[in-house]
This record gives sequence, structure tokens and C-alpha cells, in this order.
Amino acid sequence: MLRRTILALALAALVPACGGSSSTSNSVPTGPLSSSDTDLLAQLAVKALLTETGNTPSSTAPTIEPVAGEQRVLVILVNFKDSPNQPWTVEQARQVVFEETDAFLRASSNERTWLTGDVAGWFTLPMSSMTKDARSISDTARNAARAANVPVDTYPHLVIAFPHAPALPFQGEGTIGGSPTIAWANGVLDRRTVAHELGHNLGLRHARALTPGSLVAEYGCPSSVMGSGDGDFTAPDKVRLGWMRAEEISNSGTYQTRPIEEGGPALRIPRGSTVYWVEARRGVPGVLVRIEDPEGDLLVATGTSFRDEITGLALTCEGTNVSVLLDEPTGGREVVDLAGQQFGSRELEGAMVLDYRRDGPRWIARATLSDVRVGAKPAMGALDLDAIGGGGTVTGSVNGSLVASFPFSFP
Ligand SMILES: [Zn+2]
Repeated sequence: MLRRTILALALAALVPACGGSSSTSNSVPTGPLSSSDTDLLAQLAVKALLTETGNTPSSTAPTIEPVAGEQRVLVILVNFKDSPNQPWTVEQARQVVFEETDAFLRASSNERTWLTGDVAGWFTLPMSSMTKDARSISDTARNAARAANVPVDTYPHLVIAFPHAPALPFQGEGTIGGSPTIAWANGVLDRRTVAHELGHNLGLRHARALTPGSLVAEYGCPSSVMGSGDGDFTAPDKVRLGWMRAEEISNSGTYQTRPIEEGGPALRIPRGSTVYWVEARRGVPGVLVRIEDPEGDLLVATGTSFRDEITGLALTCEGTNVSVLLDEPTGGREVVDLAGQQFGSRELEGAMVLDYRRDGPRWIARATLSDVRVGAKPAMGALDLDAIGGGGTVTGSVNGSLVASFPFSFP
């Protein structure tokens, strides 16, 4: 009920961004959460997606099919007519993909899946290294390999590797699924890059995190290769891929967990519209706590204790024992979708998340800007909350320009 109120007010009160933006190159910070943060009680502003239908946690999970057995990969090495250098030998490419990345996937999947395949090339493409179009590189590379009688179309996964093409805005890129799946390696061909892009190919999103400043860091998880680290995929991803078991928690109690590198299990704790995942990792004291999100699960805490009063969840961790205390929720969470709103002449995307809880006779609220982009570019944002009592005003800015100001009231 509150949600509708806020949405309606927000839509009525949104104003066009004034002044325009001269700082479109701003990006969301990607620094990792400190792993020494063990007392996280006060600083959490967690984000969750409220679904249209209410409390249906499973609908917020990304759709990822289990992956098992042999994954056949064709690596195509290509360069450009103006840049015909060959940064790697065929043998080096084979080692990176079919030994190092293969070993990573075998370990992560507990030998449920592995890589086989071939390396084709080098082919010099009749195009410039200054191209801005990754898809034209992969299309032209496939044609070049076909012309050399390589059975390109029999491989479900393609890795296209080429010397640095400076106009492309990435070092690696991968399709999320697809037939075939395609991974692009732009000037860097190493195990981390290939494992990350193949992770996308298998359906995975980035391992994101909420920063202390309440912004979403796209690569924020310092542990997973799908974040800023180079370790194993996250527990929720491994469970979705069918590589690990999750224990569903719906009662308070003490549960055993082990590092995901040793098979887990992970703990999955649905609380209203929020689904928590708790995982242990080798070398990380305590546990990592994530919130399930279809755009990439959010790491919200690392350490030996965690508490979210809004959803009534408390965790304490001692060795391999995780004590879970499930209380009555004392508040709620509202999401205001910013998609479709204009920022100057461009489209704004992202959300405002409002967490609120009762504290004795008072209400306390915290607002978070989540995943804000102007067009396709990540943007910096901030929210001010002028509250407390029965309601207040939330104002938000992106790249310094006001985008929304709306009143709200608690239920
Ligand atoms: Zn990525």
C-alpha cells in the first residue's frame, strides 16, 4: 500500500534534471568491501527488489540452467589489417583456456563440467583495429575460420581473442547465454578474463556489492571471479549451476557450513521479499552475506556477525557454525523505479530504495540510490533524506543534478 503511494507521488514529483551533466565519465566505485569489517550492524542499507506480486522471493532469482558435462569451446585468434601482431601463440591460448580455465571450472563444479575444444588462427581480418563494434569482430572472425574449413558452427562456445583494440570499452566481454555463446578477449588472454567471460556465457551476472556509501559496485565482490577477485563463483551462482547444494533456512537455529571450495553447503534464507545467501570461503574469516538480485547478487557483509532489523535476520558465526536468529520484521522496504525518467536529454535508469523501521515511537528511514545509469553509463548518485516522524521528503541527485524529490509517509 505504501509502495503505491510512493510510486504515485514520485512520478508526480519527478522533475527534469536541471543544468545537464558535464561529467558523464563518472562511474560507480568498484572498491571491495573491507574483509575486516566484522561489525556491520549499523551500516547496512540493503537493497531488495519488490516484485509486483508481493512476497515471491523465487521470482527475483536469475534464470540459470544447470551446467554439466563437456563444454566444447573454439578459440579463434584474430588480428587486424592495421595491427597484424600476434600477442599469444596457439599453444599459449590452448593452455589458458583448456588447462588453466578448465582446471578452474572443474574445481568449481566439483568435476561436473569441463572444457574441451580447439584453437584456430591466426587470421588477419579485413578490418581496422579501431573498430567500435565487437560483434563485427566476432562475425568476421567466424567467417575467416569457416573459410579455412574450421567447423565453427559445431562449437556451442566461441572465444574470440585479438590484440588490443583501443576503441572497445572493455578488456573482456561475454554474452549471457546464447547460441553460440561468445566471449571477446581484447588484448588480454588469461585465466581470470576467460573464466569471467565464460561465467557470463553460462548465464552468470556480476558479483556486485553494496558499498558503505550505499551505492552498488558492479564488480564489488572481492572474492569471486565475477566480481573484482579471481576466486570461485559465488554460492548462489554455484547452486543455480547445479554445482552445489543450498540448505533452506526457515527456522532459527545453528547450522553448519563449510567453504564453498569444499562443497559448502550454502545457506539460503528467504525473508519476505528479500532472499539472503550465506557462504563461507577459504581464507575469509566468518561468512559472506549476499542478497539475491536478478541483475547480480549483492554482497552486503563479510564477517562474523550480521543483522538486518528491517527483515528481522541476525547471524553470528563461530568457526563453521552459523547461528541464525529470525525475528519479526520491524520495518519494510520500498523501491522507486527510475527507469524511463529523463536526465537532460537521456534516459535515467536505476532505483531509489527506501528502508524504514520502527524504533520505539519513531520511524527511522534510509534511502539508497541503486544501480543508477544515465543511458548505458554508470552514474554517481546520492540521496538525502529529510525525515523522521510520520514521514518526510526524499531528494536524489545524479552527477550533481536533482532528479527526484518526493514526500512519503510511513504506514
Ligand atoms: Zn563481466
